[in-house]
Parts: sequence; structure tokens; C-alpha cells
Amino acid sequence: MRITEIHVYQRDLPVKNGPYRMASTAVYTLDSTLVKVVTDTGLEGYGETCPVGPVYQPHHAKGARAALEEMCSSLIGLDPRKGDRIYAAMNGALNGHFYAKAAIDMAMWDLLGKATGLRVCDLLGGAVHEKVPSYYATGVGEPDEIARLAEEKAAEGYLRLQVKVSGRPVEIDIETVRKVWERVGGKVRLAVDANRGWTMRDAIFFSEACRDVRCILEQPCNSFDEVRSIRSKLNHPVYLDENSENLDVVIRAAGQRLCDGFGMKVTRLGGLTPMRTFRDICRAMALPHTCDDAWGGDVIAAACTHIGATIEPKLSEGVWLAAPYIEGHDDPDNPVAIVDGHISVPTGPGLGVTPIPERMGHLVFSAV
Ligand SMILES: [Mg+2]
Repeated sequence: MRITEIHVYQRDLPVKNGPYRMASTAVYTLDSTLVKVVTDTGLEGYGETCPVGPVYQPHHAKGARAALEEMCSSLIGLDPRKGDRIYAAMNGALNGHFYAKAAIDMAMWDLLGKATGLRVCDLLGGAVHEKVPSYYATGVGEPDEIARLAEEKAAEGYLRLQVKVSGRPVEIDIETVRKVWERVGGKVRLAVDANRGWTMRDAIFFSEACRDVRCILEQPCNSFDEVRSIRSKLNHPVYLDENSENLDVVIRAAGQRLCDGFGMKVTRLGGLTPMRTFRDICRAMALPHTCDDAWGGDVIAAACTHIGATIEPKLSEGVWLAAPYIEGHDDPDNPVAIVDGHISVPTGPGLGVTPIPERMGHLVFSAV
């Protein structure tokens, strides 16, 4: 099997009832990049990368497409079933830019699955769950509204809720989380995600004021060093998200016991190949983690669900999908959707989703 063509598409994903607010940004529309890899067998593989705006991570959509343009011609003629060799070719063509490489890597797993008749979760070691727990993330909002929303989502069947905080006085964050705890405390697991937005002072204040609230603190402060310096002063477990930019950081953070778990994004690490390594590190060190992405349509949702399906229950913190915030599905016949707080693993070979042409957007460039 040989790669004969790679086509890269851009499309907009409007946020339903937007904007979606986080500490650093308000998102109205996502700029998603889809990749279609064509082979000489007629099989096609799909990948996607979709940064949640240009300030959440040091990633942006135009950067992803520029990086793909730099790499794609180097991959023509290679065998897509040999994923490590494809990755080596990408690294040989371009340093870094793993969030762009993630789209190609996803398409390679999709093609390997289609070539072997196996689902990606089975290629990754086998599914532990056929219905993968998701979690719901509130935006940053008014305390009473967020508490109401938390109760509603717990009733829908979510086992875990993430409350977004920061970007405002920490007293409002404290009030918000205390009200959430009054409504759903003990019924669901809680994560409080500051998305790098708290000062060290705010994180310490919050952790003291909510000492009795059973929750984890996700990415409380901006930098690795800030988190390290306040770690011993916090009453809550700490998860890293945005700081865990690559496997090197993950290994350092886990090795130094700087964190108790991770919020992890598939495209940030560079796709399912490095995500598999991350999963195995976490398994070896008993560190719980999510398997998410920042945003994206059904292709990214499928990739997150397949790796999420392989996580043993005690370490699984769920798979967040953007699906509830996006109108429609890229593959209406095989939508990756959340029902009762859980996501059914796609059943077809590979990723199990094929975007319909109307959802592919416009062609940006092709390598042939
Ligand atoms: Mg997070």
C-alpha cells in the first residue's frame, strides 16, 4: 500500500449558542483542518486538527496548514501502515509542529484499521469499554447558572464535570464551585479548570476556601514552575493540561511527581502514536487522565474515543467532545455523539467515520 495523494481542507465549525468562554478567550467559530490521505488501494484515511483559537496553546489553524504543506509531499509513496516510518518522515521534513502532524498520524491509524479490518481502539490494544465515559465542561459563568447547569448535566448521566474558572476575581470562582458542590457533591467527580488563569495566590486562596470540596485542580497557573512552587501549599490533587506540551514534559512531570494526573489532548501530543505512549506512561505510574482534544469535528472525536476506550476505568477521566457545541455531524450515518454522558465507540474499521463532502470545507492544497 502506498500513499498517492494528500488533500488538505479548511472548514469553519460555528459554536452553537456561542461564544464558549474560557479564561483567555471567547470562541465563536473554530477553524478546523481536515486531511484526506488517498492510497493506491483505493482506501482513504482521514485526520483533523483544530486548535481552539490562536491563544489557548502555541498552536493556530493557519500554522497547522502551513506545517502540513511543508511535510505532505515527503509522504507520497510511503506505506501508511508503517506509522512510525511515516512519523520519522514527518520529523525529517519539519521540526516540531506536532499538532499538525497529529492530523496525518490519525489518518495513518485510520488506514491501518481499514487495511486490516480492525477498529483503531483494537489496534491500540483493545477496548475496555464500548461506551466511553465523557465529561461535561461548563464555561466560565455566573455561580447560580453554573450550579444549575452542573445539576442538569449530572442528571443526564455524566460521571464527571469540569467547572471552568479564572479570568475574574477568585472569590467568584470560590462561590461558583461551592454552589456546584452543594448541588452535585458526591454524585459526580469534579474538576476545576483554571486554564492557566490563576495567579499562585489565587490558587492557594481557592484551595484553602474549598478545602472540603472533593475536586481536582486542573492547570491552576500558567507555568510548570508556578505549579511546582505552590504544589505543597494546595489541599487538592493537581492535574496538568496546557503545560504538558509533549512527552518530555509528561515524563518530567510524572517522574518528579509534580502532578496527580493529566488533562491530555490528542493533537497537542502529536496524534494517536504519542498518545499511546502517554497512556502507557500513565498506566505504569497510576496517573489518571483524560483523552480529549481542544476542539474539532467527528474525526477528532473518533480518535479521542478510540484511545479513550482503551483506558482502564480507574485511570479514565473521560473523553471530552466538542460535539454538544457544534451543529450537526461530519458523518451523519456514524455520528460520534454523547448519549447519557457516554460515547459509543465507532463500529467501522479504522476510525469508523467518513466526513461527507458537504462537511469537508474547501480544498487548500494537495500533494500528489
Ligand atoms: Mg483543561
